[in-house]
Amino acid sequence: MRTVFIKDFTLPELEDWVESIGERRFRARQLFRHIYARRVQSWNECSDLSKMFRVQLEFGAQLHALTLRERVEADDGARKYLFELHDGHCIESVLIPDPPRQTLCLSSQVGCALGCRFCVTGRLGFKRNLSVAEIVDQVCQVQRDQPRLTNLVFMGMGEPLANYDAVARAMQLLLDPNGLAFSHRRITVSTAGLVPQLRRLGQESPVNLAISLHAPDDALRNQLMPINRTYPLAELLAACRDYPLAPRKRITFEYILLSGVNDEPKHARALIKLLHGVRAKVNLIPFNPHPDIPFQPPAEERVLAFQEILQRAQLNALIRRSRGLDIGAACGQLAAQYSLAATY
Ligand code: SAH
Ligand code: SF4
Repeated sequence: MRTVFIKDFTLPELEDWVESIGERRFRARQLFRHIYARRVQSWNECSDLSKMFRVQLEFGAQLHALTLRERVEADDGARKYLFELHDGHCIESVLIPDPPRQTLCLSSQVGCALGCRFCVTGRLGFKRNLSVAEIVDQVCQVQRDQPRLTNLVFMGMGEPLANYDAVARAMQLLLDPNGLAFSHRRITVSTAGLVPQLRRLGQESPVNLAISLHAPDDALRNQLMPINRTYPLAELLAACRDYPLAPRKRITFEYILLSGVNDEPKHARALIKLLHGVRAKVNLIPFNPHPDIPFQPPAEERVLAFQEILQRAQLNALIRRSRGLDIGAACGQLAAQYSLAATY
């Protein structure tokens, strides 16, 4: 029997799998309850399953796809989890407590291929996509520590829409009332702007959307985010306008403020024009400095001045201070520098 990762399967797939090893299909639902509602840690805990079935699970089905290697807590309460994958690569997830919310920031890839100039994950380059089980298991493992997760955001390592199939299938499990049972209003996908996949997401699984914008014109965005050369702003904004938003929801546009690069009043004015007619809110994120990245955050008064220009134009703009800065868990800082099997 081939070893499988059980959290790779949606419910219909698990039904097929249990049938393929000679069990009845309804056992799949029972397994789902054990895994996602009871959160068992070993197949032995599933005492309502036959001994024979448990032995088959023991030898043929991996319950966990990740091994927790480290858990660090920041002064502000944010927690970073370092997970090892079965091939020795490492990823990070970050829990951001903001009562009553408990938001988990999920990774979707090891590294990232898009190479945005300000991002530490981008500096790593692309190693590989995460599997469905590796995405889902981040939620399951952190739930052992914080059972009341309320929100999930794909804002950790990687570009979620560059790993579309695994992310979409993971989302099925996250949304399934028999699975992790999150509401689609509590899940946000953040993207640097892969337009075709963005349109597909809107059609197939319209969760909340965050766009990493960071520049109000193509010339500047081309420099900061090479993906803009493939999907320039006009195409990206057209896809945003077409995105099927739930009532009263807006698209979040992330805008990192980089001193002397994109933080001048003219950039704020261009941003207002660009977002005209879009149901938008803007998150202004002062850049999180890092020794390997040649940018700096602006002075406080420039951040406030930028915000004020947007607000005067009735554009909803909040300043977002990243959490977890002292443990390298802030936006754009996730790198999981070491791989436990560097020789792979
Ligand atoms: N690839 C996706 C999701 C992961 S990045 C995306 O780009 O949207 C999560 C967020 O962190 C993005 O908005 C990204 O632009 C931002 N970010 C990257 N580097 C940063 C830095 N040094 N300081 C602040 N935010 C950063
Ligand atoms: Fe990749 Fe997002 Fe970082 Fe850009 S900002 S390199 S898309 S993870």
